[in-house]
Amino acid sequence: MPFPRFYSRRKFLATAASLMAGLPLLPRLKAGGAPTLQKRGQTPAVVVSSANGLKAVKVTYRLMSKGTDTLEAVISGVNLVESDPNDRSVGYGGLPNEEGVVELDSAVMHGPTHRAGAVAALRNIRKPSRVAQLVLETTDHVLLVGAGALKFAKANGIREEELLTESSRKAWLKWKRNLSRGDDWLSDDEEDRGIARHVGRPTGTIHCAALNSDGDISCVTTTSGLAYKIPGRVGDSPIIGAGLPVDNAIGSCGSTGRGEANLQNLCSFAAVELMGTGMSPEEAGIAVLRRVASHTTQSRLLDEKGRPNFGLMFYLIAKDGRYAGVSMWGPDKYSVATRKGSRHEEMVYLYTRGS
Ligand code: ASP
Repeated sequence: MPFPRFYSRRKFLATAASLMAGLPLLPRLKAGGAPTLQKRGQTPAVVVSSANGLKAVKVTYRLMSKGTDTLEAVISGVNLVESDPNDRSVGYGGLPNEEGVVELDSAVMHGPTHRAGAVAALRNIRKPSRVAQLVLETTDHVLLVGAGALKFAKANGIREEELLTESSRKAWLKWKRNLSRGDDWLSDDEEDRGIARHVGRPTGTIHCAALNSDGDISCVTTTSGLAYKIPGRVGDSPIIGAGLPVDNAIGSCGSTGRGEANLQNLCSFAAVELMGTGMSPEEAGIAVLRRVASHTTQSRLLDEKGRPNFGLMFYLIAKDGRYAGVSMWGPDKYSVATRKGSRHEEMVYLYTRGS
């Protein structure tokens, strides 16, 4: 990876400043550094995922190498994490909302057909990504929410189950006992609440994207969302353009971290558009992080140096096989699989604690 450390502001400005000016309405450039189209069968295949997706990238890459379609491959990969009771950010064992109910968000997108499916605030279903896939494959809709999404899942024969594990229930009760400054309800003087509300609030999600040797890309994002959220809260994960999008001619971007910041900036869509103008995955990811930082002005969301006090991560793949993980805060890692195997790689980041 070319920038495994703190991203140089000078380098960013030199390569990217002019391209940022018109975001997100830039026309796509035909020349320049835009991903080059390779012949079918000759693209260097790659799978990227969040740090909790090491097993997922391995399985996804293996399936893809055997000829499985990229969408089926990424969903099979994240299903492992959705079913893992020890991952408290996704599916079974995910941390619940403020009433102790696990509510899940997921989206999937298939590059070759440019179709998407998503579910939000879905309860009692272990693998929401499979329900999102059914929305994509069997309906003319893109997003189903709440009770409607659950009805749809059950109509498709998917079994309801209790997703709260003993350990997630205990974590929720502990949070409830210590609630006062840590919920999502802003007081009359919201700045009064300081930054404590956002510090130590568990978050987590898995995003996984795959590019096969034919240059086809698909991706999935799935999550139990922000822990102890207000019931019905929908994050960025199931929103096409925020939690993910793919443009099969350009690349893909997916996100984890503070969903509200992503929703306010539609970052993943913007990043893919920037790659379409010729930016590398690193440059595009850093550009949108800078945009988020410049739009974050409320003091409850800023640290003592005026930097966003929350995490936000992007996982990007370009059509030609370049890839990157970028993070608001580092150092941090993400998961990658290529023909050299699966591993964690360092993310590029904007800020580091103690600096
Ligand atoms: N982005 C997710 C959400 O806001 C949470 C996370 O990734 O930590 O629901």
